[in-house]
Amino acid sequence: MNLSDIKNCGIVGAGGAGFPTHIKLNSNPDTIIMNAAECEPLLHKDMQLLFNYSDEILNGMKIVMLITGAKQGIIGIKEKHHEEIELLKSKVPNDIKVVVVEDVYPAGDEVTLIYMTAGRIVQPGALPISVGCVVQNVETLYNIAVNKPVAEKFVSIAGAVEKPSTVKVPVGITYKEVLSKFKITVPNYVVRSGGLMMGVLEENLNKTISKRTGALIVLPTDHHCVNMYNRFATEHDTDRIAKAGCDQCNFCTEFCPRYLLGQPVRPETAMRNRMFTREEFPMLHAGNFSCCECNLCTMYACPEGLDPKGATVIEKRLAFKQNIKWDGKPISVHPMIDYRKVPTKKLMQRLDVLMFKDEGPLTDINFHPSVVRIPLNQHVGSAALPVVKVGDEVKKYDLIGKVSGRISSNVHASVNGVIKEVIDNEVIIQRL
Ligand code: SF4
Ligand code: SF4
Repeated sequence: MNLSDIKNCGIVGAGGAGFPTHIKLNSNPDTIIMNAAECEPLLHKDMQLLFNYSDEILNGMKIVMLITGAKQGIIGIKEKHHEEIELLKSKVPNDIKVVVVEDVYPAGDEVTLIYMTAGRIVQPGALPISVGCVVQNVETLYNIAVNKPVAEKFVSIAGAVEKPSTVKVPVGITYKEVLSKFKITVPNYVVRSGGLMMGVLEENLNKTISKRTGALIVLPTDHHCVNMYNRFATEHDTDRIAKAGCDQCNFCTEFCPRYLLGQPVRPETAMRNRMFTREEFPMLHAGNFSCCECNLCTMYACPEGLDPKGATVIEKRLAFKQNIKWDGKPISVHPMIDYRKVPTKKLMQRLDVLMFKDEGPLTDINFHPSVVRIPLNQHVGSAALPVVKVGDEVKKYDLIGKVSGRISSNVHASVNGVIKEVIDNEVIIQRL
């Protein structure tokens, strides 16, 4: 497998980022870090993959090291995963080491993981490659080793379901069809895709699984998290509530994992600016572009139930729009970094999800959708260009959309079938 195979297979960051892997790996790091921290509560997909496909995933790591010329590999994994740690330690070659990290949130944030596993500090606005690292998700490495077009996705099904599981589903199947195989334990529910902290509350269950979807979490409609998500559904809500309620206690900043790493993120300044800003004269703290959107300040730190994350993201977008760069001095970590970590169990308590089963064994379920709707824009960058037309017969793994532009990715059929429709950013296949 080489870079052009990875490009041809349409491999993108499977942890949710969706960045085309052939572009990310077109670099020369000295270290590849496998992100096995899986820090979103209730998710088990990556650990299940590591447990069941460790040989493939380690092979994927070796391929990536060969492609990039990296001399060492690091597997960043949480201390609670005893079985997986033992398994990996018994199999890793000399140039790959297993580094055990604490069970804290957000250990899976790239910048945090690089510090926790390699001790390197990514400077504000810089990419991991600036400190010689490239971080790869577990499932992405699996896809590289398997060397086939990405037509299926592993997904954690969690929350209010009788048997939380990890399942492999065809790309383009609807959330509704996936969930129809599970017994939901509450009468009224909503679905959060991706994760409780960094995911999206889904209005429409006819939305389809993409190469980036990592989880579907079922939540009762009156759940604490749902109330929080709904309270800050729009920028206007964040703005209005920030203006009304923030007492500038600073907890959001003091718990911010990026701030503790020395990054110039200051959510409390974003809240203050929301209080005093005017639309035609927006105030912003330039360092807030370093926010990783982990949501810890909103879902955990703020004692007033406000949305410092939302306020910080408003400033982040403004900073990008205005091309504002951080020109401060090099940063160093905060002296309190080791004392302000947020254990996952504490976070789960705060999110009120301790009542859900915290497990997700890999389970073999057959999904046979009669129709799949495959997005052409399921990655960062430009949408793929369709290369099929209505009536064409396609086989699973056939190319249906090709790379268009500098940053883009190929898209493939996930079932054998006939092209039913090619519409804006979507190819619809009727299964044969
Ligand atoms: S923690 Fe909440 S109340 Fe305190 S400064 Fe931050 S947003 Fe304001
Ligand atoms: S979401 Fe909040 S806690 Fe997370 S990095 Fe951004 S400002 Fe910091």
